[in-house]
Amino acid sequence: MKIELSEEQLQIKSAAREFCEKEFKPEIALELERREEYPLEIYRKAAELGLTCVSFPREYGGMGYGFLETCLVVEEMCKADSTLGAAISTGNYGSDLILMYGTEDQKERYLKPVCRGDYISAAAFTEPGLGGSDITRIETKATKQGDEWKLNGAKSFILNAPIADFIVVLAQTDPDITPPYRGETLFIVDRDASGLSVIKQTGKMGIRCCITGEVQLEDVHVPGWNIVGELNRGFYHAMGFLDKYRAFVAAQAVGMAQGAWEIAFKHAKNMHVNGQPLLQHQAIGCPLAEMAAKIEAARLLTYRAAWLIDAGKMDPMQTAMAKLYASRVAVEVTDFAIQVLGARGYFGQNRVERYHRDAKVTEIYEGTSEIQRLTVLKYLMKLF
Ligand SMILES: Cc1cc2nc3c(=O)[nH]c(=O)nc-3n(C[C@H](O)[C@H](O)[C@H](O)COP(=O)(O)OP(=O)(O)OC[C@H]3O[C@@H](n4cnc5c(N)ncnc54)[C@H](O)[C@@H]3O)c2cc1C
Repeated sequence: MKIELSEEQLQIKSAAREFCEKEFKPEIALELERREEYPLEIYRKAAELGLTCVSFPREYGGMGYGFLETCLVVEEMCKADSTLGAAISTGNYGSDLILMYGTEDQKERYLKPVCRGDYISAAAFTEPGLGGSDITRIETKATKQGDEWKLNGAKSFILNAPIADFIVVLAQTDPDITPPYRGETLFIVDRDASGLSVIKQTGKMGIRCCITGEVQLEDVHVPGWNIVGELNRGFYHAMGFLDKYRAFVAAQAVGMAQGAWEIAFKHAKNMHVNGQPLLQHQAIGCPLAEMAAKIEAARLLTYRAAWLIDAGKMDPMQTAMAKLYASRVAVEVTDFAIQVLGARGYFGQNRVERYHRDAKVTEIYEGTSEIQRLTVLKYLMKLF
C-alpha cells in the first residue's frame, strides 16, 4: 500500500475542495436544512464536474477512477459542510448495485443519466416492521407472473426515495427456501411504476438535506429485465454493496470530524481566556491534539479499506473497522468542537452543532456500530 496520495489524487481532492468553497454556502445549508430539502442544483453542478461519479467507468460518463478517489471527494465534501456533503455524496446511492451486478443494458439505461446528474437513485433494504440490522429475513415479496414479477411490501428510512428516479429494491422471491436469505432478489423499480408510492419522512436529527422516505409497493409489476444480478442472490449482492459502502460512510465521518476539528482549532487559537489563547489551556489544547491523531488514524483506516477495494481485495473486516472507528471519532470530535466553542457552538451559525447532529448517522446507517463490531469479531475468529 502506498503511504502517500499521488499527485493526481491530491488534484482530485483540491478540485473537490474548490468546488465546495464556491458552492457550499453556509446560509444555503442552513436554509435547505430548515426546509429539509435536497440541494438538487448543487448536485447537478457537482455532476457536471464529474464529482458525483468519480469511480464510475468513463463509458457511462464517470471519471473512471477508483473507490479511494471517491472517498477523497466524499471526505472533502463532508469536511466543507457536513449537511451538504452528506447529501451530494449520496445523491446516486444504490447506483453502484447496478454497476457491480447489473447487465450491460441496465448500465446503459441507468448509469449514464446518473453520471450526468439527471437521475437520483435509491437502494431499499430496511423494512418498517423489522430490524434493519438483519436483512436475512424480509417481508417484501416478489411473485412471478409470466415474464413479470409483482412486488408487494414496504421499505423505510430510504435515502432519496421521495426524489429518486429509480429505487433498487430487495424482495423475497423464493418464500419456501431455508434460510430465507437464499431466496432474496434485487429489482429496479422506476419512479413512475404503477403501485409505487413514497411518503417523505421528516424530523431527522441530522443530515436533513438527505431526503428520506417510506416506500410502499402495492402490486408493482416489473419485467424480469429489472432483476439486478442473479435471481435469489440479492442478499449476497446487498452485502457486497454494503461492505463496500462502509468505506464510503467512513470517509463521510472523517470529513465531518476534520471539518468540525478545524473550526474548533481556529476558534481556540483566536479566542483569549484569562489572558491567553484558549489553545494554550491544556484542557482544550491537549484533547484537540489527541483528536487530530484520532482523525488521522481514522483516515488511514478508511484509505486502506478503499485501497483494498480498488486492488480487487475488498476486506469486509477492514471496511467494518474503518466505519466503526471513523464514525466514533466523528461523534467524539464534533461533540468536543461544540464544547470548545461553548455557547457559540451550541447555536447554528458556527456550524459545529450541525456537524455533530450529522455525524451521528454514521454510527447507524450502512450497518450500526454494534453490527460492525460483530463483523470484525466474526473475521477475527477466523484469523486467530
Ligand atoms: C438517515 C438514515 C438513512 C437511511 N437510509 C437507508 C437506505 O437508503 N436504505 C436502507 O435500506 N436503509 C436505510 N437506513 C436504515 C439503516 O440501514 C438502519 O437504520 C440500520 O441498518 C439499523 O437498523 P434499525 O434502525 O432498524 O435498527 P435495529 O436493527 O432495530 O437495531 C436497533 C439497535 O439494536 C442493535 N442491534 C441489532 N441487532 C443486533 C445484534 N445482533 N447484536 C447487537 N446489537 C444489535 C443495533 O445496533 C441498534 O443499536 C437509513 C437509516 C437512517 C437513519
